Amino acid sequence: MMAKTTPAPLALQVCDVLDKTLSRKALLHEPSFTGHEWEYVKECLDTGWVSSAGKFVDRFESEIAAYTGSAHAVACVNGTSALHIALRAAGVEAGDEVLVPDLTFVATANAVAYCGALPHLVDSDEKTLGVDPVKLKKHLQESSKIKSGALFNRRTGAKIKALVAVHTFGHPVDLDALQRVCEEFHLILIEDAAESLGSFYKGRHTGTTGRFGILSFNGNKIVTAGGGGAVLCRDATDAQRIKHRTTTAKAPHAWNFYHDELGYNYRLPNINAALGCAQLEQLPVFLEKKRALAARYRENFLKLQGLYFFEEPPFAKSNYWLNAFLLNPENSSQRNEILSALNQKGFMARPAWVLMHKLPMYGACPRMDVSTAESLEARLINIPSSSFL
Ligand SMILES: *Cc1c(COP(=O)(O)O)cnc(C)c1O
Repeated sequence: MMAKTTPAPLALQVCDVLDKTLSRKALLHEPSFTGHEWEYVKECLDTGWVSSAGKFVDRFESEIAAYTGSAHAVACVNGTSALHIALRAAGVEAGDEVLVPDLTFVATANAVAYCGALPHLVDSDEKTLGVDPVKLKKHLQESSKIKSGALFNRRTGAKIKALVAVHTFGHPVDLDALQRVCEEFHLILIEDAAESLGSFYKGRHTGTTGRFGILSFNGNKIVTAGGGGAVLCRDATDAQRIKHRTTTAKAPHAWNFYHDELGYNYRLPNINAALGCAQLEQLPVFLEKKRALAARYRENFLKLQGLYFFEEPPFAKSNYWLNAFLLNPENSSQRNEILSALNQKGFMARPAWVLMHKLPMYGACPRMDVSTAESLEARLINIPSSSFL
C-alpha cells in the first residue's frame, strides 16, 4: 500500500530540481506588469480612446515592426485571427490543404479550418520540436505532384497551398531548410511565431522569413496585451490588404459605409495596444530573465539521468517562452506520475498538447507518419517559466 503512493525516484528527483531552481511554488506562465502599464491604460480611459481607433494601435504596430525587423506589422485582436487573415492573404481557399504540424496548439489547425481548408498534418523534428524538413520533403516527394506551378495531393487531388511552421514553445524551427522545401514544392511559408517573440533564427527574428508571420499577445505569452496578435509581412500590398480585411473592408470615407469585400472585425482595441506598448518596452528584460531561468534549469537538470532539458537549437537564440524537459524513451511510462508529483508540490506542469490527429475534428485529416510527434507527446513536460521566477 505504502509503496503505491510513494513517488518513483525519478518523480522525486524532478521535484527536487524544481525546488532548487525556483525555491517557490509557481504557475506555468504569469505576466509581469512592472512598467508603464497603468499609465498607458489610464491614458486610454482618460481620453476615451479605448476601442477600435487610437494612437497606441499605430505605435504598437510600428514598434513590433521595428523590433522584429519586419517591413510591416498589422495588429489583430488575437493570434488566431492573425493566422486566419494571413492564410486568407496567402490565397488559401475552401477545399485546399495546408501543411500544419501534428504537434501544435489547436489554433494553428483551427485557422486553416476557418478558411474551409483541411489541415494536412506533418511530423516534428526532435532537435527543434518544429516541422522536420527532411521528413516533409520525403513525404511530399512520395505523396504529391506539381502541376502547372501548384502542388497537389496525389491521393485526395486537393491543392496544397501553404506550410504553417510553428516555433514551438519559442524555439525556432530550421527555417532555411523549410524555405527550400517550400520553394521546391511551390508552397507559401507562414510562420506561427505566436510563442516566439524575441526568438531569432541565424539573427533573423522568427516570423520574418516566410511570406507571413504571426504573433500572439495572449495573457500567457512573453508579452501580453491582455489579448492581441499581429501579422508580419514584407510586402506593402499584402499589409494593406490585411489591414483592410481586419477592419471590415470599409472603403475610407467621412460618412459612407461601403465595404468592398468580405471583411472581419479583427482590429486590436486601443486599450489592449496601450498595455502591449508598455509590455514591449520590457521585452529585453523579460528575455534576459527567461534565458537566465532556462540556464538554471539546464544546469540543475544536468545531474539527472533518464531525461534532458530542452535547449535551443544551435542556429537559434530562443526566448525560452515555455521551458520543457523530455524523458528518455524508456522512461515515458513515468510521465503522468511525474506530472502528478509536480502539480501536487505546487509546481504547475503540463504535457505537450494532445496531437491534432487525436482531436475529433481533425481525426480524418490527411497526415504523414508522425512517429516523432507521438514520441514527443509521450515524453515532454512543460514547467514554470514566468520571467520573474
Ligand atoms: C497562443 C498561440 C496561438 C493563438 O494565439 P491567441 O492569441 O491565443 O489566439 C496560435 N498558435 C500557437 C502556437 C500559440 O501558442
